[in-house]
Amino acid sequence: MILKKIRNRRTRHPIRVTVDRGRLGVTLSSMPHKHRFRLSSLSSTTLTFQCVVGGRDCRTRCPEQRERPTTAAEKKVLKPDLNIFPKKGVRHIHTIWWEFAKRFMLPDPGGLAFKWSGHELSRKVVKWAAKYPKDVRIISCDDAFHASSQLVLIEHRKRDRYMGTTVCYIPQCTGEQPICFFLYPSHRSGLITALREIAKASAPAERRQKIAHAKDRKYLQSLRLNT
Ligand SMILES: [Zn+2]
Repeated sequence: MILKKIRNRRTRHPIRVTVDRGRLGVTLSSMPHKHRFRLSSLSSTTLTFQCVVGGRDCRTRCPEQRERPTTAAEKKVLKPDLNIFPKKGVRHIHTIWWEFAKRFMLPDPGGLAFKWSGHELSRKVVKWAAKYPKDVRIISCDDAFHASSQLVLIEHRKRDRYMGTTVCYIPQCTGEQPICFFLYPSHRSGLITALREIAKASAPAERRQKIAHAKDRKYLQSLRLNT
């Protein structure tokens, strides 16, 4: 149902607003238009182009994609970016991630299943990560059962290129498989901005909490066995 014709603020292209299951939202579809394709991903065999009408947001952009084979001349130029396993000893942008996947995940190209989970996987990852202090970072977090868990940050970087960072969440006690997701630089910036804002907004409450805890501690320490 078209409620109103509006325009994308950046591209000025008209988009439809509809009611989806009772919730107001911007639909995936754009109004009829001439597609404008830009390269969105590449592999050694295929180049994929995405229509950019509607902006970068997947909720508003046109979903149209086209593919064509990568030519020999393009392969030559694009070689550093292609997902081709390099010769042994040559660092590829995905080298560390590939090693992580080989070491800890099952060789199933269709999924992201891990060989271990929980505490056992955590221990093995910590040991492995020690080999790559510049490329792999481990941050503590809690799982949904409030048990100590991990976020493993793996860089997709080499000397002159940086694509982004994989984050792998390893819960300790919830029994789920770990989850991996990818942060491109723009996603990373969004996360940093949000965490900075949270830190700033929660600082006064944290200060008051610290004072209250200190008072509690003082009182608890004053309690004696014989009253
Ligand atoms: Zn389009």
